[in-house]
Amino acid sequence: MQVEKDSYEAVVVGGGTAGLSAALILGRSRRSVLVVDAGEPRNAPAAHMQGYPSRDGMPPGEFLAVVRQEVESYGGELVRGRVTAAEPDGSGEFHVTLADGRRVHARRLVIATGLVDELPDIPGVAERWGNDVIHCPYCHGWEVRDQAIGVLYAKEAGTHQALLFRQLSDDVTLFLDGADGDELPDADWQLLAAAGVGVISGKVGGLVVEDDRLTGVRLADGRLFARQVLVVPPRMKPRDALLASLGARTEDTPAGPFAAVDPLGLTSVPGVWAVGNATGPAEQVVNAASAGYRAGAALNAELLHTDLARAAERRRAGVFSPEGERAVARARGARIGA
Ligand SMILES: Cc1cc2nc3c(=O)[nH]c(=O)nc-3n(C[C@H](O)[C@H](O)[C@H](O)COP(=O)(O)OP(=O)(O)OC[C@H]3O[C@@H](n4cnc5c(N)ncnc54)[C@H](O)[C@@H]3O)c2cc1C
Repeated sequence: MQVEKDSYEAVVVGGGTAGLSAALILGRSRRSVLVVDAGEPRNAPAAHMQGYPSRDGMPPGEFLAVVRQEVESYGGELVRGRVTAAEPDGSGEFHVTLADGRRVHARRLVIATGLVDELPDIPGVAERWGNDVIHCPYCHGWEVRDQAIGVLYAKEAGTHQALLFRQLSDDVTLFLDGADGDELPDADWQLLAAAGVGVISGKVGGLVVEDDRLTGVRLADGRLFARQVLVVPPRMKPRDALLASLGARTEDTPAGPFAAVDPLGLTSVPGVWAVGNATGPAEQVVNAASAGYRAGAALNAELLHTDLARAAERRRAGVFSPEGERAVARARGARIGA
């Protein structure tokens, strides 16, 4: 795919749900918009996307393919590639550089680069990720209901996941994975006991997989526990190199610092919006779509008012453009007509 122009009103970095949703609204507002996407959406390992009203159960790749077509139908341009730099051009706008050396100018930026799930370093976990090694009760919980579920403990995640998955199955076991049981507050032990969640101490050594299915969790000391599902706590790291290089402020979340944005997605850097998992670990697909929509609309309105304020200033200074005057005449006519 070629980059067709050398300057766009908006460049969207990242073509997952959040970025495409912003591009859809910008395209529908007749803005020139380029989406650059490296093609690694976070939920790619999962066969199905759950919890998106009207698209529940749709394969994530199919969903994105539909949204890409919608963006293109309004004139949005999509290219496969990785943005390696976004730099101020000195006039409040930006130069964007792709890994292959292509360079475009962007009046405004939407950063929708998502996050990376860093998985626990346990043999088998990465291979089964998104299948029977999972992290989110709302994404996969219903599908694993009533199964034998193991939950891997981590200090940052606590016991919350074990309690949530207990809602979906009577057979939930928490693996302390080498953590000292004394580090769990007494209140947690009481909740686990009340919920009927079993607790296993000892370090987890690996997973047992047979016929392409998880069948057990093996401890380092050799003990084996039959489990069909393992819930793990990934460390969620925003892909925020571009935002950091632009100087965008961050704020703390339970998963560490993420870009700070206002309710419409504007970062602390004028002209730069950020949406989706780049701004927080809790953004699911439907939230990412919503954030993209809001940011697209906010960016459109900001550009409109910036350009009109400039045009009004030129007019006051006696510089009239034929286009501007036609618009004024149309507006006056409409007012008289009303
Ligand atoms: C296994 C798994 C299953 C999940 N299942 C569900 C589910 O069922 N329902 C649900 O609601 N949520 C689910 N989620 C969460 C869901 O994946 C996220 O909510 C969603 O992907 C966030 O969208 P996003 O657009 O912010 O980021 P992403 O979808 O991750 O998209 C970001 C895009 O930006 C691109 N990118 C990154 N850096 C650059 C760069 N420098 N230049 C160009 N492109 C770049 C990436 O390649 C990627 O394509 C799941 C997550 C996981 C891990």
